[in-house]
Amino acid sequence: MVTIPEASVAARAKYEPVIGLEVHVQLLTVTKIFCSCSTKFGAPPNTNVCPVCLGLPGALPVLNRKAVEFAALAAMALNCRINRTSIFARKNYFYPDLPKGYQISQYDKPLAEFGWIIIPSGDGEKKIGITRLHLEEDAGKSLHEGFADSAEATAIDLNRTGVPLIEIVSEPDIASPDEAYEYLTRLKEIILYTGVSDCNMEEGSLRCDANVSVRPRGQKEFGTKAEIKNVNSFRFIRDALEYEVNRQVGVLESGGRVTQETRLYDASEAKTYSMRSKEEAHDYRYFPEPDLLPLVVDEKSLAEIRAILPELPESRRKRMVADYGITMYDAQVLTASKNLADGFESAARQAKNPKRVANLVQSELMGRLKAKGLDISQSPISMKGVALSADLVESGAISGKMLKDLYDLSFERNQDFPEVYEKEKPQQISDSGAIEKIIEDVIAANLKQAEQYRAGKKTVMGFFVGQVMKATKGQANPQMVNALLSKKLES
Ligand SMILES: [Zn+2]
Repeated sequence: MVTIPEASVAARAKYEPVIGLEVHVQLLTVTKIFCSCSTKFGAPPNTNVCPVCLGLPGALPVLNRKAVEFAALAAMALNCRINRTSIFARKNYFYPDLPKGYQISQYDKPLAEFGWIIIPSGDGEKKIGITRLHLEEDAGKSLHEGFADSAEATAIDLNRTGVPLIEIVSEPDIASPDEAYEYLTRLKEIILYTGVSDCNMEEGSLRCDANVSVRPRGQKEFGTKAEIKNVNSFRFIRDALEYEVNRQVGVLESGGRVTQETRLYDASEAKTYSMRSKEEAHDYRYFPEPDLLPLVVDEKSLAEIRAILPELPESRRKRMVADYGITMYDAQVLTASKNLADGFESAARQAKNPKRVANLVQSELMGRLKAKGLDISQSPISMKGVALSADLVESGAISGKMLKDLYDLSFERNQDFPEVYEKEKPQQISDSGAIEKIIEDVIAANLKQAEQYRAGKKTVMGFFVGQVMKATKGQANPQMVNALLSKKLES
């Protein structure tokens, strides 16, 4: 966590951060954007390459239809307007991992524009604009370590060259590092729901650059911005922005000038460092890519994509609150991933009391999954099992305690709940004669407490219930125990 020097807290309040985020998301296509090479992560270096992605003379790019569909699906989910015609452009620069000497991207006519995301902010909500969403190809990867001669040489892996990306550029609407964190969290959640990317930050499927400047509160013009590149977790981005805002305020307060530059974040020190000054940065000399036709997305394709757009987290939460009578908090937890939300809903629809299912999933199931480091898809208890267990408790056939024990057994044996239940079938004692007999024994053994109860100390009831449950190893039907106990104690 970043600590802010005491003295700068007052100064910080005079300034307002202005933050814009550029997020690159790798699309989950099987092949690259302009050739048929595989996009599989982790293949041996330089094995997924061909003349097209290597940029050999005479090789021509052919656009991957699936990449366009995925990009359009993401754009729709982010409330963007999809342009009927967009243009691919060459972004020219020299870098060792860019064999063509240019990257095919989109420039002044991107695939989609004018989107937005709603984020929680303070007690309410805030709309963060999305300027544009465009398609582009990824560059290769420079490997600076991991080889015997890494001290003298850099190795290049071109497997990633030509892998399809979308770049999502936000408006500078983000006014704090916390809002940046929320924006990224929501953005990732939405993209995951659409299924167009796995958003795996460790494998580089989601990368984020941040533009940040500060200005005196109330001032209209933006301050000079710095760009923070290649930060590999949302928490680090928040910390990097926190550091950078404080640094810029410090520079301005001491009478200095913020320089426009690219900075890198060092997570171990929680500081940003200057990488290169923007004044020296390249002019990319964009021009339309002559080897590709304008990209036209017609009405028919748009309708097809709209048809497969899934229900998105925000509206899903609202619907779940209405459908199942659960709280917004429950809905937040249960929609953390699409898998979890799908699972919950399938159980909630089968069970008699959806609210009980919501509680069971959150307290009994997720707790145990978390303890074992398992994802919902790896749960030994299926959603059918959850529904059955909820109904058994609902009907009084098993107690809450029995359910916990059965869940423990399911996890121990890696067996689904119905199997474990069938085998164990904890018999709840619902024979009133048998329960009455036990109650009589318990009262006879605790005459003093029975006296106290009759004298008006009703809280001793809990003690008696405990004794009866103990005597029956927790298998007595709790409702019957309660009813019979009060009858016996009052007689
Ligand atoms: Zn290729």
